[in-house]
Amino acid sequence: MAESLGGAGPPGGGPAEPELRGPRRRLLDTLRERGITDLSVLRAVDLTPRHLFVPQAIQHRAYEDAALPIGSGQTISQPSVHARYLAELRLTGHERALEIGTGSGYQTVLLSHLVEQVFSIERVRELLDRARDVIRRVDARNISLLLGDGTFGWREYAPYDAILVSAAAQDVPRPLFEQLAEGGRILIPLGGREDQMLTVATRRGDTLVRRDITPVRFVPLVGAYGWSE
Ligand code: SAH
Repeated sequence: MAESLGGAGPPGGGPAEPELRGPRRRLLDTLRERGITDLSVLRAVDLTPRHLFVPQAIQHRAYEDAALPIGSGQTISQPSVHARYLAELRLTGHERALEIGTGSGYQTVLLSHLVEQVFSIERVRELLDRARDVIRRVDARNISLLLGDGTFGWREYAPYDAILVSAAAQDVPRPLFEQLAEGGRILIPLGGREDQMLTVATRRGDTLVRRDITPVRFVPLVGAYGWSE
């Protein structure tokens, strides 16, 4: 598909990928139609070439507002879900954020445009290796990756102002609560193995103040403080 170049790529926004900027613009229109109004989130979507994060065979579908398979039995979420998810965190650009479930790395890169520093953990080695390659390609430099069970968090860099959990649990894993800064927010799908409620919770001292956002279906968070394999 031929798309006009329309100038060089945005500064710090990764490669220009001119041939797919048109579809990406259409995705932005779809997100606006679906009620995403947060300008910093829309900008992050605009700066992030989603087609690099999905398998080659389905790259032509990368700018549909659809969840897509990324291999190893995992999926990359619908862009409107990512956008909603990120908008709920009300990020200012100064945060230290922890992400559990790097997956394709797409959300990791979105997040990197919205905060100061991203720490992201993935338990499947092949996914992490692929994500690392793409992250290098788009030249995102404020991302640190770790292979392991994210239900333990990443104590070394705690506390985090924001924690995003991209897989579903029955409850907030204790270590993640402990690594959340006072007033920090955690986004996590909570519920059963199949159906969950996307929940945002704010830390107030020893408690979490919870708010339901929307029903969702995420893959299970597998780990010591999550589901068993
Ligand atoms: N945000 C991702 C979606 C990934 S799907 C994206 O944009 O592509 C959820 C991911 O969570 C999967 O890759 C899965 O392997 C990972 N995951 C599940 N349990 C985990 C755990 N305990 N620690 C780290 N990653 C985990």
